[in-house]
Amino acid sequence: MTRKLESYASGRWFAAEDDGRPLLDASTGEEVFRFSAQGLDLGEMTAYARTVGGPALRALTFHERAGLLKALGKHLIEHVAEFHELSLRTGATKGDGMGDIEGGIGTLFASGSVGTRQLPNDTVYLDGDPIPLGKGGTFLGQHVFTSRPGVMVQINAFNFPVWGMLEKLGPAFLAGLPTIVKPAAQTSYVTEAVVRSIVESGLLPEGSLQLLMGSPAGLLDELQVQDHVAFTGSAHTAGLLRNHANVLHGGVTLGVEADSLNCSILGPDVTSDDPELDLFVKGVVTEMTYKAGQKCTAIRRTLVPAPMVDTVIDALTARLARTTVGHPAAEGVRMGALVSLDQREEVRKAIQSLRASAEVVYGDPDRPGNPDLVEADGERGAFLGPVLLRADARAVEPHDVEAFGPVSTVIGYDSLDDAIALAARGKGSLAGSLVTHDPEVARTVVLGLAPWHGRILVLDRDDAGESTGHGVPLPTLVHGGPGRAGGGEEMGGLRGVLHLMQRTALQGSPDMLTAVTGRWTKGSTRATGDVHPFRKSLAELRIGDTIESQPRRVTLDDIEHFAEFTGDTFYAHTDEEAARQNPLFGGIVAHGYLVVSLAAGLFVDPDPGPVLANFGVDNLRFLTPVKADDTIAVTLTVKQITPRTTADYGEVRWDALVTNAAGEPVATYDVLTLVAKEWPATT
Ligand code: NAP
Repeated sequence: MTRKLESYASGRWFAAEDDGRPLLDASTGEEVFRFSAQGLDLGEMTAYARTVGGPALRALTFHERAGLLKALGKHLIEHVAEFHELSLRTGATKGDGMGDIEGGIGTLFASGSVGTRQLPNDTVYLDGDPIPLGKGGTFLGQHVFTSRPGVMVQINAFNFPVWGMLEKLGPAFLAGLPTIVKPAAQTSYVTEAVVRSIVESGLLPEGSLQLLMGSPAGLLDELQVQDHVAFTGSAHTAGLLRNHANVLHGGVTLGVEADSLNCSILGPDVTSDDPELDLFVKGVVTEMTYKAGQKCTAIRRTLVPAPMVDTVIDALTARLARTTVGHPAAEGVRMGALVSLDQREEVRKAIQSLRASAEVVYGDPDRPGNPDLVEADGERGAFLGPVLLRADARAVEPHDVEAFGPVSTVIGYDSLDDAIALAARGKGSLAGSLVTHDPEVARTVVLGLAPWHGRILVLDRDDAGESTGHGVPLPTLVHGGPGRAGGGEEMGGLRGVLHLMQRTALQGSPDMLTAVTGRWTKGSTRATGDVHPFRKSLAELRIGDTIESQPRRVTLDDIEHFAEFTGDTFYAHTDEEAARQNPLFGGIVAHGYLVVSLAAGLFVDPDPGPVLANFGVDNLRFLTPVKADDTIAVTLTVKQITPRTTADYGEVRWDALVTNAAGEPVATYDVLTLVAKEWPATT
């Protein structure tokens, strides 16, 4: 008997009590593993995630979590050869496997970057600025995101056993949610190998990742309010989950990434001589053949101006004819097998349904090869050559039936409105693409398509060289789509993380907001001591530490000097007569940048010290004009302190307020500096 795959549950590897069911090599039909979770205590698993994994994870700051994700990415990259060997057994070619394995690991690095660049080195994320709620400035609102004390259950589809897990793990880990992964049975051995490697690395806090290698029956019964299910798979299974009592009534949230009938549209501007035609054809063929078309974002509907249908079919046919089908490890094979013989049957049935209103113009659903098979057996292996169909605009099935394999249908359209209406008949898609070099076509079609799509690629000769293509979801962009596509939203950089956290509108006084959020809030207490804050290291600085400068008179000489020195001789600073006509100024005013520069001169402590550099300003606003002989002063307050985990310095954000003699605000902004953790430096 082959090895029984094991679950990783409650801190140990668990082997089921029964023999389990066999999992077969997609290309040879040979048994590769057995699969079962009989006897596994799912209640104990979810409790372990909540009581062990969650607290350990949430004890770390966002930056620490991000650091672990990057370290994990580096660890897994060392082991890809082993994962690729298993991936071949799923019917995937080496190229297919790279999207899954290296692509999946890439999402860990991307999540790591989101954590360090876009989240604070803290456990609370502040959503926007404080909102004044009273005239006196003593009552404010602030939106905050905090981690949920729950668990994230991933239920994944068979087609991306590694990427599917890692693209969800990264955002959940950053969000402070421990994860339980339930991979699709058919390809779960690749997921198991990756989880084994993760556990062996010892990098992740215990309990933050568990693996269920068997039936998910009963798993949702164990979930509670604060828990989240991230489902990827068919609309049918999604429907079952949506109707689970704990989702309907128990407060369990559910994200769905389901099937979708994505389209690619060829713009009416494209002629046979344009490079866009070739880009379009390449895109459709890539989406039909990569992973043997078993991709949720693949192009199922190929929408083409009616007069171009024959030209496009000829070009697609010529290109599809070059797609060799066979054993994924065989030399020169471009397309491997579908995941199982059952899946091939499903695809054949779907093609049969499509044929009610479409004709096959390339390929043969009964033929495993293209036309022959390379080093493979078409009876034992789940091979199927690419199949292209053609339908007219009245056809119903191409907008309803998903053939989850190397299949697409070409449909002619008459006008842009027609193309948009056809796209919408998919009832909501993950990804759409438009190939055009005409900006007006781009705007019209994208605005028509956007409400029906999670992502839209506009492809032309200018971006083709760098384009990642129609079907590739990117960790920095949202993945998910409306309607039939499930209505879910994953990845998307920071959005993907915040999606898994709780947003709360916090109300209180400035001092309370400062205490809770760790960021100085306008109106809260300032501490002016004897020591200039520029003399303090990161370890010594405190939120609210303040320097109040001496006043300084801004003379006409200063303004003229600045104008001449910088070359900024804009009339409002140099021409009294013209400046007087200006309705905002009524006479010569100081340059805003002069005010900011003078303010720096007022607050700076010039001697060498822990402040290492100024790396910018945020939110700069000039509020009241400064006229010749006005007096300005600046108040600089420590607003936020963010130590870097990988450096011996951190970032300090200072609130800068420049006022005039009447106490009116002249300019406000945040000064951004790098400050040494210790001073003098200990290393
Ligand atoms: P599926 O049959 O719906 O299975 C998906 C997952 O759900 C598997 O892990 C499956 O486990 C599990 N499952 C099945 N019944 C369940 C139940 N009653 N309760 C809880 N979990 C249950 O889909 P599939 O055939 O694996 O995947 C193909 C479909 O997924 C296609 O339609 C494709 O379009 C869609 N897909 C969507 C995306 C996306 O990002 N939107 C990505 C990939 C695929 P078992 O394997 O153990 O049955």
